[in-house]
Amino acid sequence: MKPKLNLLQLYPNDMNIYGDWGNVLTVIRRAQWHGYEPVLHEYNPGDTFPNDIDVVIGGGGQDTGQDRIQTDLLSIAPRLHELANDGTPMLVICGLYQLFGNFFKTKDGHEIKGIGIFNMETHGGPERMIGNIVTESLEFGQIIGYENHSGQTFLANGVSPLGKVVKGAGNNGQDEFEGARVHNVIGSYLHGSLLPKNPALADWLIEKAATKKFGEFTSTVIDDRFATEARRVALTRPR
Ligand code: GLN
Repeated sequence: MKPKLNLLQLYPNDMNIYGDWGNVLTVIRRAQWHGYEPVLHEYNPGDTFPNDIDVVIGGGGQDTGQDRIQTDLLSIAPRLHELANDGTPMLVICGLYQLFGNFFKTKDGHEIKGIGIFNMETHGGPERMIGNIVTESLEFGQIIGYENHSGQTFLANGVSPLGKVVKGAGNNGQDEFEGARVHNVIGSYLHGSLLPKNPALADWLIEKAATKKFGEFTSTVIDDRFATEARRVALTRPR
């Protein structure tokens, strides 16, 4: 029997735009290629939060979607903090990335509370930041994606950025940071989907999950020529 990895997708009904579902599909497929049996659990408002979760993934959404999940997200915050503190790997994109911070104050002054895994705040800005984006990270090299957000995110003490912007806006269009990292929790504005074009990040999530659960990660060399070609082409795209 193959070793099982339980993957939790947070709020697929409300938080899943610009291809974010592809992140889940990528982790499932690559985990299979590496010899694991991934099991997908979908969590929407009101659902029972499952036990034994090995990887958490969540996507972006409109302000209205963020509003809809706010109360439920706050109710599962203690579980998510527990998992984060325990080293569970997580990837949250855009809308959920913002709500893993302290709050998102929208352009009309309305505050959506976050769960504070990342010590950061987000303020709706005057212009949407839209377009292709390239960042450089120490751990994963170049990270390539697409961003579309009005929120400007500012990191505070104890949170490292995921990368530095090479092309695009990133967290706020001002300090050149993109994304956030605490424990094994990664937040990012990059859609696209992110993981098919950035397999190093996908494998990192799987590796962290497997090592935590089984004490080792037995990887396979995957032929990533399509991902490599997608990265090459994406890098030539205008902003
Ligand atoms: N609603 C948020 C914003 O506009 C997040 C958007 C997104 O997830 N793409 O900043």
